[in-house]
Amino acid sequence: MIIHYPVKNHTVSHAFGFDNSTHPERGDFYSLFDNKHPGVDFPVAKGTEVFAAFPGIVVRREFHKGMGNVIGIRNGNIVALYAHLSEFAVSLGEIIDVGHLIGLSGETGDACLSPHLHFELRDISKSGLKNMVFDPPFEKECETYTDTFEYIVNNKNTQKTLKTLSSLYFGSEKYCEVIKETNGMYTNDPDTPLLDGIVITIPNYN
Ligand SMILES: [Zn+2]
Repeated sequence: MIIHYPVKNHTVSHAFGFDNSTHPERGDFYSLFDNKHPGVDFPVAKGTEVFAAFPGIVVRREFHKGMGNVIGIRNGNIVALYAHLSEFAVSLGEIIDVGHLIGLSGETGDACLSPHLHFELRDISKSGLKNMVFDPPFEKECETYTDTFEYIVNNKNTQKTLKTLSSLYFGSEKYCEVIKETNGMYTNDPDTPLLDGIVITIPNYN
């Protein structure tokens, strides 16, 4: 799977890994990532068209305190986040092709000090947020891509069900049956909390 640029202008203002520790304002936003910038910033004007960097299914479409209006698109184990948007152009659970218009850039969210697109890639087969993020290999093959991945259920403090996993990885509850089939979990009730520690293979959307 090739990672394309999400905007037409490829100028970057803050690269992946940019150290924010000494910045008076930016420093506060990235403590979860040891103050390193977890994505790439494109300093585009508000209202700039943002395009899908690869094909996938929309798994996040929400307002996040730091990232503002954010769209998340998954393909296999890779999720792309498009943050600080002014407008959304896709819906949760929608399957979209590479280059599809997904929204307009903006300056929403506390971690946005001037209009830009924050683009972030996560390998969700890894554990721990700061291990998931990586430097996007623009216009190149994503070497860490896998079509399916294994999720180890962590239900110590939560009550995740098949419906929860379907919403997290497919943007809707419609994929419960696909997850059940992939894992031979024919008798599992989609509303019953999953056993802590079991391994579930998350299939792709297609
Ligand atoms: Zn950023």
